[in-house]
Amino acid sequence: MTFKALLVEKDDSGATSAHVAELSEDRLPDGDVTVAVEYSTLNYKDGLCLGSGGGLVRSYPHVPGIDFAGTVIDSNDARYTPGDKVILTGWRVGEVHWGGYAQKARVKADWLVPLPQGLDTRQAMIVGTAGLTAMLAILALEQHGVGDGPILITGASGGVGSVAVALLAAAGRKVAAVTGRPENADYLHRLGATKIVARDEIAETVKRPLETEKWGGCVDAVGGPMLARVLGQMQYGCSVAAVGLAGGPSLPATVIPFLLRGVNLLGIDSVMKPYDARVAAWRRIANETPLSLLEGMARPATLADLPQLGRDILDGKVTGRVIVDVNA
Ligand code: NDP
Repeated sequence: MTFKALLVEKDDSGATSAHVAELSEDRLPDGDVTVAVEYSTLNYKDGLCLGSGGGLVRSYPHVPGIDFAGTVIDSNDARYTPGDKVILTGWRVGEVHWGGYAQKARVKADWLVPLPQGLDTRQAMIVGTAGLTAMLAILALEQHGVGDGPILITGASGGVGSVAVALLAAAGRKVAAVTGRPENADYLHRLGATKIVARDEIAETVKRPLETEKWGGCVDAVGGPMLARVLGQMQYGCSVAAVGLAGGPSLPATVIPFLLRGVNLLGIDSVMKPYDARVAAWRRIANETPLSLLEGMARPATLADLPQLGRDILDGKVTGRVIVDVNA
């Protein structure tokens, strides 16, 4: 039995290249559950893993794809039987363990969650790791404090940002979306953003540690100088959920917003999230995600499209969620 996969290989010079290959099932890694993958997605980390790996990939040849949804075809674990629909996010799948850019995947049962009622496998992947992360960020904001001002979303037209805008707007919050691409303003308004903030307006390095209080919370996918600036614009006692570093890993901030405005900086990690927390977040996603908006975020792709799309996402050129139909 063979299956199609996007294989990333490394040559003797250290250069990597990705191509669609036909592989035999005995090449699948060890695991408890074998899944017939239906959909996977493109995330920032996949962009890294499709290229030189960015320090994430441990050995080659490698199959990227940090998330997938599909149907169980074989299981050694009592929780899953053939025919069950499942979702995988995180646990370094697609980084150190072969991932979802393949028609078959074999993983540990603990890394899966059952597909929640109300979503099909494609819809679940429009949400995907990006949307799970957005929901975890929103849960953290709710737990630690939000104010009455708009919630700021940085990197808004990307995967995490798009889902965060839609979820918060659907919950009735005012949402301010930061984007470096003014041409995406209509897209962000359709998702529910009430205000568009130009990236340049907020990207300058901190000049004053405290500015006018503007935001009742923030989901930050960008990090770097933008996150530092946002900290000084938060309303008293409000929270910033930091999910990513599309704008760089440095944080040129001062301690003053924490001391004088009681700002909370919350780190969000979806990768090693325990089973119960993932199941709870997926239930809430299934109950609260406006399904009609999901289609507007989705951009279809095949395995063969991924090498170019991987370069695009690292260049910040991808809008919304790229949904990979691995059987197309
Ligand atoms: P995307 O590339 O889809 O989105 C990132 C967005 O950030 C871009 O669309 C762009 O939005 C903006 N952006 C890109 N480059 C820059 C820059 N240099 N300066 C300012 N803004 C920039 O990525 P994802 O949404 O998938 O992921 C976002 C971040 O979150 C990544 O760092 C990723 O690794 C991380 N992540 C973390 C997770 C976790 O568990 N903590 C899970 C998933 C992702 P615009 O053009 O609108 O400005």
